Amino acid sequence: MSQNMPNLTAVDPAIAKLIEQEADRQQTTLEMIASENHTSNAVMEAVGSCLTNKYCEGYPQKRYYSGCGFYDEVEQLAIDRACALFGCSFANVQPHSGASANLAVQFALLEPGDTFAAIELSEGGHLTHGSPVNISGKWLNPVTYKLVTDESDPNYGAIDMASVEEVVKQHKPKLIMCGYSAHPKTIDFAGFRAIADKYNCLLWADIAHIAGLCAGDAHPSPFPHCHVVTTTTHKTLRGPRGGLIMTNDEELAKKINKAVFPGTQGGPLMHVIAGKAVCFGEASKPEFKTYAAQVVKNGKALADALKAKGYKLAANGTENHLVLVDLRTVFPDLTGKEAALWLEKAGIITNMNTVPNETRSPFKTSGVRLGTPALTTRGLVESDIAEVAGLIDATLQSNGDEAKLADIRKQVADLAAKFPMAH
Ligand SMILES: *Cc1c(COP(=O)(O)O)cnc(C)c1O
Repeated sequence: MSQNMPNLTAVDPAIAKLIEQEADRQQTTLEMIASENHTSNAVMEAVGSCLTNKYCEGYPQKRYYSGCGFYDEVEQLAIDRACALFGCSFANVQPHSGASANLAVQFALLEPGDTFAAIELSEGGHLTHGSPVNISGKWLNPVTYKLVTDESDPNYGAIDMASVEEVVKQHKPKLIMCGYSAHPKTIDFAGFRAIADKYNCLLWADIAHIAGLCAGDAHPSPFPHCHVVTTTTHKTLRGPRGGLIMTNDEELAKKINKAVFPGTQGGPLMHVIAGKAVCFGEASKPEFKTYAAQVVKNGKALADALKAKGYKLAANGTENHLVLVDLRTVFPDLTGKEAALWLEKAGIITNMNTVPNETRSPFKTSGVRLGTPALTTRGLVESDIAEVAGLIDATLQSNGDEAKLADIRKQVADLAAKFPMAH
């Protein structure tokens, strides 16, 4: 594997070599972190372009610096494509990341100390949804709704909509958040909106994980139900690393634009915005619908194969790209931390994760979070995913034996070699 980087190799061979090594790592391993993907060469070309050189504080046609003509066109294309892709009227494409998008929305719509409803980090939420270590938990007042934890309930693992209504009725939040980082079920945006309307709150969806599925019609759209939608652009949406905020409400859009700049950010990353425009263009093509559908099919194949081997899964399976394995039924003594370490040695890249009814600390956990977006980009289909599930099981059964892990590592590299990635 070699990158075509003649200048970088000449100017800075140390960094060039590390990038080449990373390209090789990505090519020879199986990327199963649910929040990661392999973006296209076209996106990487835009992100690696001279557009990194320019200051464009402000918005198209309203800049503080000269020389922004082409950038106005780039940003406007990104905005128009985002609106067309997600079916909304206003988009802010400047957030540097998902966390920056969320901070801007909180800054736009809430005052310090204001109450909002979300779910706990340990139940699938994100740090920016009110965690005590995040500004959202320190400066705002999060109240939390729950998951359905009764395993005999057909909705086991889904959001407990009755608990949403209860917490909203009791605490009268200004805003309700839905959208998660480790949630395998479809989100009932319409159900959330009914509660928001009944109690006169704003509804905000953070679709960071599922944006590509929404764009590709493999998950219901958050519009027209949500007042505000935030997302990352680099997870299932498969674009450059970045954030995006959308709404249909012109007044909210004005507040959000001010909250992004000058509220919480300085100059936009115009090279990344160009990459976002390319990503939105790619995601609007028919092939992307096929991709999104295959991500979900692969998620189901992964869940089915693991269940057949006796693994317990959060929500008993998945309706999207993400599978949360509860290791305790098969390996009561194995932590998620150790499992993720063994899997990495075998070339299968995952992360430890808390599971419903967790009994261990977030630094050890009883679960591993798996995802199919990156493998699907590389072209794996259900039968390949079943093979991957076998390799995952063999890794966990190895009890960390180095020789066995080295053998699985070879099988992983052989499988990965059949599915080239963009680099
Ligand atoms: C990943 C994620 C974010 C944060 O995105 P960053 O780009 O890492 O800041 C926010 N919300 C949810 C639900 C996420 O999964």
